[in-house]
Amino acid sequence: GFGRREVNVLVVGLDNSGKSSLLNYLRPRETQSEFVAPTVGFNVEQFTCKGLSFNAFDMSGQSRYRTLWGNYYRTTNGIIFVIDSADKTRILVAREELQQLLSHSDISSRNIPILFFANKMDIRDALSDVGVSSALGLDGITNKSWHICSSNALTGEGVSDGIGWLSSAIK
Ligand code: GDP
Repeated sequence: GFGRREVNVLVVGLDNSGKSSLLNYLRPRETQSEFVAPTVGFNVEQFTCKGLSFNAFDMSGQSRYRTLWGNYYRTTNGIIFVIDSADKTRILVAREELQQLLSHSDISSRNIPILFFANKMDIRDALSDVGVSSALGLDGITNKSWHICSSNALTGEGVSDGIGWLSSAIK
């Protein structure tokens, strides 16, 4: 679980899925977020709190920086994949990004738990956690622990349930 040592958690998903809002919710009030730019144009939002280091970036529109993602993949102890459950068109793009993530050599070779936030659950017509799970084909993930939670990153609904699962899944 969290707290025994430095734990890296990678927060990914398409732009506009709610990653920043989620980090804002998790971040202690006095902690400022830093934007780290390993190279021009590639933004990683990061904060560290009590041995827990969160790094977040967009998978969409940043494909040209894909080769840099491995640096984050290699050192991560857990992944949070955020989905906009109300964006039924782009969920197929999210599915493709997920497949690429899972087939990356630094991810496929390691038993890293993945938490999915079916975010924006408050929006009318948003897909349920079951709907998001089937749109992403999560049943096909057999070599990793994963869990999906509906969430509202603005109010925090569902967030602590998910983080609680991730904490106990990280060994
Ligand atoms: P990011 O690009 O993944 O970091 O996404 P942001 O955190 O910037 O969120 C994108 C937009 O969605 C913003 O306008 C947020 O206020 C909004 N948003 C994020 N999470 C939720 C949610 O759970 N419900 C609703 N209704 N809006 C959300």
